[in-house]
Amino acid sequence: MLTAIDVRSLSRSYAGNPGFGRKSGKKDFVALTDVDLKVEVGEIRGLLGPNGAGKTTLMKILSTVLLPTRGEVEILGHDVVREAELVRRRIGIVFGGERGLYGLLTARENLDYWAAVYGVPAGRRKQHVGGLLDRLGLGDRAETQVDKMSRGMKQRLHLARGLVGSPELLFLDEPTVGMDPVAARQFRALVQELRDEGMTILLSTHDMQEAEAVCDKVTLIDRGRVVGTETPEGVGRWITGFERVDAQHVPDEVRRRVVSLPGVRDAEDLPDGWVRFDTTEQGAVSPVLESLISAGVTAIRTSLPSLEDVYVTVIGDRGLGV
Ligand code: ADP
Repeated sequence: MLTAIDVRSLSRSYAGNPGFGRKSGKKDFVALTDVDLKVEVGEIRGLLGPNGAGKTTLMKILSTVLLPTRGEVEILGHDVVREAELVRRRIGIVFGGERGLYGLLTARENLDYWAAVYGVPAGRRKQHVGGLLDRLGLGDRAETQVDKMSRGMKQRLHLARGLVGSPELLFLDEPTVGMDPVAARQFRALVQELRDEGMTILLSTHDMQEAEAVCDKVTLIDRGRVVGTETPEGVGRWITGFERVDAQHVPDEVRRRVVSLPGVRDAEDLPDGWVRFDTTEQGAVSPVLESLISAGVTAIRTSLPSLEDVYVTVIGDRGLGV
């Protein structure tokens, strides 16, 4: 198997401010610590983590936008520092935000410009750009000025821009933030298409469902460290394995009985007389519900924890280090 992304012991700090003024004395901030990551050619890898985890920093280093502080990074066999130019020719980048599109130009003019930058020959440019616009569902908006587009449309245009150089490896940073559900679904279908064409994709998201829908594997990142790499089903199982049951007005003795059931971690008091029972394994919820119902408790609800909750509990318990 060929390796598309090979990261070894990567660390990155943002400089503090040792000088004068209000922010003086601020220490360096370590955004990534000892990150190891390997992604094979043709793989769609998710980078999943809460806000501030270090996803964008990692993406920027892999795409030569930012320099590493320490460690080695090879993209398609090229070093991101010494061979940045070679790396750039073979990758596409789609970062969030508005940068990289010219608001006063139309969708077509923007892509035309970027196609020229990426060296698409003038004779092929029209067809190439037209094809991309159609593919991203922007065919009938080709002559619309970017400033007049909705956020979702701009997002698709960003994606088209990332594909303009026919990259082998595509970096997508939170690509569906701001897209409506229909556009997000279309986007996922497009990612599957690109996969079928053999493209490698690294996609950062804080949305579990997105990761589950499109990724072959998911790398979890938290506070600048890689916590582990799992299949999306594996991560999904973590979440459903930690289902919780909330119940109202639970007598003390029933509460004790429920907590003693296998796979029930503890009981926590919530406002308004609700008690939350946290479970730690698949299948633990049914006996909890049975106990509560047979004791005459009627106000019961179940819920799934957020990804952040799972990080704190599962990851902490697994000893993978947060
Ligand atoms: P994510 O993409 O997962 O939300 P980021 O990579 O954007 O995370 O940020 C990781 C951490 O680094 C955050 O705590 C953020 O505040 C910090 N950070 C990001 N960019 C800078 C910068 N230019 N200067 C200082 N700190 C930064």
